[in-house]
Amino acid sequence: MIRNLKIQYRILIGLGSIVLLLAISISLTLFQIRTAKENSDRIVNLRVPTALASSNMAKDIYASLASLRGWMLTGSPGFKIERAKIWEEIAKTKTVMDTLSKGWTNTENIEKWENFTAILGDFSAAQNQVEAIAHTEKARPATKILISKAAPRAEKMLQLITAMINIEISGQGSKDIDSKAVIGVMADVRGSLGESLASIRAYLLTGNIKFRNEFTKQWAKNEARTVDLSRLTSQLSPEQNTAFNEFNVLRTEFSSLSARMFTIRISKQWNMATFLLVKDAMPRANMLLSLLLGGYEEDGTHFTGMVESQRDLLENDNNLQTNRINSLFTMQKGLLFIGVTFGLFISLLIARSISAPVASMTTAMRRLAAGDLDIDIPAQDYTDEIGSMAKAVQVFRQNAIERRRIEKEQIETMRELDFQKYALDAHAIVSITNAKGEITYVNNKFCEISGYPRKELIGESHRIVKSGDHSMEFYEDLWKTITNGKLWHGEIKNLKKGGGHYWLDATIVPFLNKKGKPFQYVAIRTDITERKESETKALKAQKEAEIANRAKSEFLSTMSHELRTPLNAILGFAQVMELNRKEPLMKKQKSYVDHIIRGGNHLLELINQLLDLTKIEAGKVSLSIEGVRLDVLCQECIFLIDKQAKNRGLNITSDIGTTQYIKADYVRFKQVLLNLLSNAVKYNHDGGTIKLACEEISDEMIRVSVTDYGPGIAEDIQGGIFEPFNRLGKDSGEIEGTGIGLTITKQLVEAMDGHIGFESELGKGSTFWVEIPAMDGTVEIMTEQDKSPERIGTDDKISVNTTILYVEDNPANLHLMESIISNMDGVSLVSAHNAELGVSIAEEKLPDLILMDINLPGMDGIAAKKALGLIDKTKDIPVIAISAAAMKSDIERGKTVGFKAYLTKPFNVSEVIKTIETELGA
Ligand code: ADP
Repeated sequence: MIRNLKIQYRILIGLGSIVLLLAISISLTLFQIRTAKENSDRIVNLRVPTALASSNMAKDIYASLASLRGWMLTGSPGFKIERAKIWEEIAKTKTVMDTLSKGWTNTENIEKWENFTAILGDFSAAQNQVEAIAHTEKARPATKILISKAAPRAEKMLQLITAMINIEISGQGSKDIDSKAVIGVMADVRGSLGESLASIRAYLLTGNIKFRNEFTKQWAKNEARTVDLSRLTSQLSPEQNTAFNEFNVLRTEFSSLSARMFTIRISKQWNMATFLLVKDAMPRANMLLSLLLGGYEEDGTHFTGMVESQRDLLENDNNLQTNRINSLFTMQKGLLFIGVTFGLFISLLIARSISAPVASMTTAMRRLAAGDLDIDIPAQDYTDEIGSMAKAVQVFRQNAIERRRIEKEQIETMRELDFQKYALDAHAIVSITNAKGEITYVNNKFCEISGYPRKELIGESHRIVKSGDHSMEFYEDLWKTITNGKLWHGEIKNLKKGGGHYWLDATIVPFLNKKGKPFQYVAIRTDITERKESETKALKAQKEAEIANRAKSEFLSTMSHELRTPLNAILGFAQVMELNRKEPLMKKQKSYVDHIIRGGNHLLELINQLLDLTKIEAGKVSLSIEGVRLDVLCQECIFLIDKQAKNRGLNITSDIGTTQYIKADYVRFKQVLLNLLSNAVKYNHDGGTIKLACEEISDEMIRVSVTDYGPGIAEDIQGGIFEPFNRLGKDSGEIEGTGIGLTITKQLVEAMDGHIGFESELGKGSTFWVEIPAMDGTVEIMTEQDKSPERIGTDDKISVNTTILYVEDNPANLHLMESIISNMDGVSLVSAHNAELGVSIAEEKLPDLILMDINLPGMDGIAAKKALGLIDKTKDIPVIAISAAAMKSDIERGKTVGFKAYLTKPFNVSEVIKTIETELGA
């Protein structure tokens, strides 16, 4: 297919394919790089900052907790400052994470981050609360009760008891009781109170249970001693009692305060900052860190934090990136390989489809230029420039070959021409003349035959040898032909120098210039003087032969005519005698007359057949070949021969089984069949059988056979059966014959493109057969039934006083006719011995019928008929021709002038009677 493309399209397709491949590979690479870049961007702008921010966040959460603890433990304001800075960092990180989170794809992480920010706020608030509360009174509520309420009451109680002691010591105290004992009780109350207060202080400070137990012990002792003291109140002074009452009120209050302090101290809220840290801040910190870093559920299952997730994502992206780069690398290698291979392939293809043919053509052209024509031209199926080049080279080569061939031919022709000229000069008489007709060249033979030396001919016109024996037109035609540039060929008679002639068979060839005008004429001639002379002789001989032949025909015709006329009288009178009802013949006479009639008929038959044979041999029989229906013809022949057969008691059977048409002349084929049938009748045993059969032997031929069961023909004499006048030894026998029936039959059959043959066995009989061409298709029946001469006699009576005029110069014939007519009732005959007289008698007598002889002295019968036709009175009188001119042409001619019938001499008396009766009576 590529071979049908023009080079430019081939290159375009080749380079286009490479560019396409390049575009595909670059597009693929760009796509891969873009994906890798997107991945990279995600790593750099999202994954890494997210991971970084996440871990910063975790670190800052830890750091914020650490600095809070630092503050809580030391109360150093440096920690507060540090924590504030950390939270600034956390806020920044949070902003970053907020921005980054918008680029996240993991919805879980996005949810986690939203969760994270909510918790982060709470976490910050909790830390602030812890920081604010640490190192304040609110931080230790039990201690606060001790300092603000319990300790002052204890101090007051100690003052009151001390005052009571002092009163006792001063003696102004109790009465009726031992003052020392009272002081002792009071001192125990004061001591145990002091111990209790100290134990509370120690317990609140350390939380150590031992101090709490100590307090319980001291407070119980204080209780006991206070009870002891209260029992002494009646002995105590009023001042002491007042003090003691106040003391008891305070003691009750102190007792409930100490209970509250212990309750607080053993509760978690004893240190509020730590409590809040643990209750609010730490769980949030843990939640935040879990969200960031992951951790374990209570059931031990691990959950992934944002940092870990980011790390995984980063790792995934990293892996993806690595894979992308690897596949890009692989793809690039593949593309490089395909590109190189395809590029090479395309280059090769282009090179092969262009450079190879170009190279081979270049070689071909170089070899062509060097004259080497035996080259291999590249294939011709290109439709492009290469194809054109190849074609051009091929045309050039063809032209070169043609030129070479022509050159060779020219050389050959020249050589041949030389030979031919040599041969021509050796054989022919050659001369060349120019356009003006002046001789420019003559060969030796010309000089020899014309008797002129060359120098007397050159420059002369051909008139020098003109014999003048030909007509002017002959020379004009010759000259006209050759000046029109056409070749002239003919035979010409020329004049020799000094008299005498010679004949030439001449061809004059005009040589034409470019305008088509003759510039010279080459005449080539052969001496045909001898042939011409013998031709003249032969012509003379032929003419003589023709004259002789004509003489023979005329002789035969005359003979026939001359013989027919007396025969007419012989047969006619014999028949008149035979048929004469008025004077019937005696038996013996009848037998003589019979002999006369038979002999006469035989002679007549012989004359007829002889004439026929002469005509056939002279090729004068004109056949009218038509489609003839065979069965009809056969039936007609059987009908015609029937009477003859019956005379011998013969039975004719037929097996015609065909309605086929044959190509034949009706009349002549009937003659053929009748001849065979008549032979079968003649050469048969009395009472025997004849069989007529027809069969289609092929699509083209039909065979008609006539079989008799007569004596047959001996094998040794069969060979001469178709020879004229050969009767195979029957000449001396009883059976009459001429011996030319089969000769005529064979010639007629062959003239109708048929064959004739026979098989015969001595003693058994013979079969004569004729094969005749069949007619294809169906045709109108050409029937000659109407022509059947057998007319059964008419019973019509001729009207009385009928006159017949007979124009006849021969008295015997006249006499015969008179005898015939005399047998016809009511008919009278007038006669005229020449035509002129006949016409005037006709005009005068107006006969009912005229019988006209044709061969009359002076005006003949035909002219007389014409003359009668011109006269009104006579033009309608029927005229029957009676003539010895039995030739077909005579009969035809007779019919054209309007004879009612044409009877030939010697006439058959019955036929004459029948014809007359028909014309008069019908
Ligand atoms: P013709 O019958 O007038 O003698 P033909 O030319 O018809 O002449 O026949 C030539 C000869 O052939 C006859 O004389 C006869 O001897 C022989 N011939 C023809 N037909 C038959 C036949 N059917 N049987 C025997 N011989 C025949």
